Amino acid sequence: MKILVCGGAGYIGSHTCVALGQLGHEVVVFDNLSNSTRVAIDRMAELVGRPVAFIQGDIRERRDLARAFAGGVDCVIHFAALKSVGESCSRPLTYFDNNISGTITLLQAMEAAQVSRMVFSSSATVYGNSEQVPVTESAPLQATNPYGRTKLIMEELIRDYSASQPGFSGVLLRYFNPVGAHPSGRIGESPTGTPANLMPYVTQVAIKRREQLQVFGGDYPTRDGTGVRDYVHVVDLAEAHASAVRWAMTQQGCIALNLGTGCGYSVLELIRTFERTTGARVPYRIVERRPGDVAELWADVSMAREVLGWQARHGLERMCEDAWRWQLNNPDGYQVA
Ligand code: NAD
Ligand code: UDP
Repeated sequence: MKILVCGGAGYIGSHTCVALGQLGHEVVVFDNLSNSTRVAIDRMAELVGRPVAFIQGDIRERRDLARAFAGGVDCVIHFAALKSVGESCSRPLTYFDNNISGTITLLQAMEAAQVSRMVFSSSATVYGNSEQVPVTESAPLQATNPYGRTKLIMEELIRDYSASQPGFSGVLLRYFNPVGAHPSGRIGESPTGTPANLMPYVTQVAIKRREQLQVFGGDYPTRDGTGVRDYVHVVDLAEAHASAVRWAMTQQGCIALNLGTGCGYSVLELIRTFERTTGARVPYRIVERRPGDVAELWADVSMAREVLGWQARHGLERMCEDAWRWQLNNPDGYQVA
């Protein structure tokens, strides 16, 4: 199958392209490199053992997309989005333009090219301040910041479009907390500037690039007072995309699926697991809660198991080991000297 992977040079996209390539699919990476680098594409090719086709382009540009669809495409995986919650609050129009306008232009290009299968990167952020855990796909949806609003709107655009096109298949994958890296240590998460997420911050403290981790809140109503999340290995996520493509090739309609492990771990449990499995130290200090954070969120993962036959295989220890190998081998991420 020929799969166009928009945003395929990024963190989750690169792992997914490797998984698809290893399954024998033909992958075309389409990316404007706004948050990624060509080095990632070279390393993907190295892992797959053959070149990976790359088109530098923007999903908001019709002409770029026309080039990408020119050679025929069976399915689109849509990772291309801006993803920083903080930046989305200070620059909402940039987020609306990139994420929402980009998705509309991409759907138009798909229609013009008669491509009717899409796998979309959504997020647990669409559940907002969910009161109920584990959260199921039928829980109420709510945006708590502009980034989350773009994900909700993109989901709705794809759902409405799918309803208008009897032959269309859309799979909305709601990721919980993707972490870890490919076991080779060759591809991984390469944040620019200060990491906003827990695991890359932990690995940067462990490698002594940063002095100390700030644990946001020690007084949540959880088992140790710190926030609980559903961390899921990026390689498991990559495999879920391959399963979602298979679903899209054979089924019609639009479905939303949670992707997590179904287990919640607190920030302190993650730190302890990281220290135990890697032998590295992670000095930390408990500070004020981060505005907008919920106490605990983990997924009910039964639907992905039933629909896709997928379930996460890697536990928290593997997530820590693989994140650490990537950090050790690439202290500055892809910013190779
Ligand atoms: P990432 O930033 O590493 O990857 C996104 C890629 O899309 C980047 O390579 C970027 O250059 C590209 N891109 C952005 N806008 C584009 C545009 N207009 N045209 C072409 N390419 C464009 O992010 P990621 O962590 O791999 O996330 C992938 C997707 O998953 C995103 O949609 C994100 O919102 C979603 N998601 C991520 C997480 C997470 O924690 N990483 C959690 C939930 C959902
Ligand atoms: N967190 C933290 N320190 C950090 C980053 C995150 O204590 O430097 C906590 C955060 O409050 C939450 C968990 O780690 O409880 C996961 O946060 P992350 O930003 O990685 O993902 P989120 O669940 O917010 O999308």
